[in-house]
Amino acid sequence: MNVEKTICAVATPRGEGGIGIIKISGPNTLHICNQIFYKEKDLITKNYLTNFWKNNKKGKNFIHGYIIDPFQQNFIIDEVLLALMKSPHSYTREDVVEIQSHSGPLILKKILELLVTIGAVIAEPGEFTKRAFLNGRIDLAQAEATIDIIKAKNLNALKMANKAIHGELSHKINRIRSIIIETITEIQAVLEFPEDVYEFSNKKKWQHTIEKLLSDRLKPLIKSYHASYADRNGVKVGIIGRPNVGKSCFLNSLLNKERAIVTNIPGTTRDIIEDRMIIEGIEVFLYDTAGIHESDDIVEKIGVKKTLEIIDQCDLILYMVDVLDPFNSDDLNIISKLKNTLVLYVVNKIDLVNDNFLNELYTKVNFTPCMYISALSHSSVKKAGNKIIELIHEKFKSSDMDFIVPNFRQLILLEKSCKKLEIAINEFNSDQPEDIVVIGLEEAAKALGNILGINVEPDIIDNIFNNFCIGK
Ligand code: GDP
Repeated sequence: MNVEKTICAVATPRGEGGIGIIKISGPNTLHICNQIFYKEKDLITKNYLTNFWKNNKKGKNFIHGYIIDPFQQNFIIDEVLLALMKSPHSYTREDVVEIQSHSGPLILKKILELLVTIGAVIAEPGEFTKRAFLNGRIDLAQAEATIDIIKAKNLNALKMANKAIHGELSHKINRIRSIIIETITEIQAVLEFPEDVYEFSNKKKWQHTIEKLLSDRLKPLIKSYHASYADRNGVKVGIIGRPNVGKSCFLNSLLNKERAIVTNIPGTTRDIIEDRMIIEGIEVFLYDTAGIHESDDIVEKIGVKKTLEIIDQCDLILYMVDVLDPFNSDDLNIISKLKNTLVLYVVNKIDLVNDNFLNELYTKVNFTPCMYISALSHSSVKKAGNKIIELIHEKFKSSDMDFIVPNFRQLILLEKSCKKLEIAINEFNSDQPEDIVVIGLEEAAKALGNILGINVEPDIIDNIFNNFCIGK
């Protein structure tokens, strides 16, 4: 990326709306905007921005005016409000102008075309944030949190992203890294001056410091990733069972729409039907699957194969049985394949039986947790949805979560750092030479530095920012 260039992009979603915003950032921002912005419609205010900028001491200002096309007989494109931010008082730390026009696709396109004609280039995805990072306004962990804030689906995810964007995660990582670096410095000092007394207690102290870092700081951060998993990523739920037990009917009832075809012909659902919904603020991805059974039909066979594959990818399996033939030998065979997965058992079609039948069934069924529903009459379907979330929370959440949570890239680096520190402790224990221990500690500190963007390969940085939207 060439930071010398002045970039521009539409920062608001496409379509018609009240306000659309175009952002411009870079060394020529003022010069470029000057040629299309006029304070008055009669064009007497040429170079208004340059004069305003020179005479105004404030770093941030709003100016009302007009965008006028100098190449088309001074055609007035729109009445606008300009937000002016002088370097370094801006998101990118460069000179930034945000043009707030009406949000008409033609208006925004026209303004963007003018900016490009005059010398700006269209920004790449995430380029504004990338510049904020490269110019030292934020570190990489904070930059990554800006995507999380945009994509947050619930208040917990928003809280986590907000904490990260304000540097709380970076602060924690920085603190751990500093302690490791201080320990390295102490060890090296002792190695460098062997004539000084080398106390055995030094070694014990270093070892203790690293152990405390692991138990009190690093491992809780790793744990918080898992605790926040559902809030951040949503959960995948596979609806599994024999054919005709009512899986598709349940999906439709939960989604409150006719998503899947429901018939009494076994094998109707041959491919996996996916949909998503929000339950208690958690994004739930639902997979209605082909009923698992022996079949000679080639298409059904493929469907069953896909079902078995999806089981491995799901966070929870909702295993459905028919109240009139629950947990038969075919069910038990399928259930045995779900050994390592969280399962919610669901007995469907309870509208077909009376209370006595059900009461007797309650005592016989020893699969837990188990819900009794009627997908056809929508009875207890919503409760089953809530139960999914309850089980997911039990699986992932920890009560002492403080919402300072790493993302997946950061998790991998935290785990790497953890591993290196554990190795260092073993090396201390087995009386390895200190310079060997230092190598491991340096690698642990390096992994933590990578979280903040220190010594990260350019292609990794590009990769991170490529996931951003244009205009951010
Ligand atoms: P799937 O093959 O497991 O997806 O089953 P479907 O959802 O296609 O349903 C198979 C048959 O069972 C259809 O005729 C549905 O109308 C019927 N069915 C589904 N749920 C219920 C229920 O709760 N009660 C009753 N009585 N019938 C149901």
